[in-house]
Amino acid sequence: MNITHIEHIGIAVKNLEESIKFYEEILALKCYEIEEVKDQNVRTAFFLVGQTKVELLESTDSEGPISKFIQKRGEGIHHIAYAVSDLTQSLDELKQKGIQLIDSEPRPGAERMNIAFIHPKAAGGVLTELCEDGEI
Ligand code: ZN
Repeated sequence: MNITHIEHIGIAVKNLEESIKFYEEILALKCYEIEEVKDQNVRTAFFLVGQTKVELLESTDSEGPISKFIQKRGEGIHHIAYAVSDLTQSLDELKQKGIQLIDSEPRPGAERMNIAFIHPKAAGGVLTELCEDGEI
């Protein structure tokens, strides 16, 4: 496992446009991209903060994981994402150590990243994403 930096922090929101306003008008950050990730039933908005991004996540489906998260816990921090230099190798290491994974193989995420989630039960209650640049 070779984590290079915190790639982004994922924040679940009810309304993407309203939340973007807070980040732009109050925090003076600039949304540089809005992207729909059909695979995960979300629309995402990205803000660059140094090397790290804030990723706002709005559900496009009332049964999707972000909807369920908000129903259960309200809006707020949803996951933390670490950039790794070799995602496949990192997942192999985790499997060898018996760590519970949501994704046993890399899958495409936003911004042409390959991503995989570690189960929050295996990570102290934090939904943990590993990501790597480039398409599968
Ligand atoms: Zn993410």
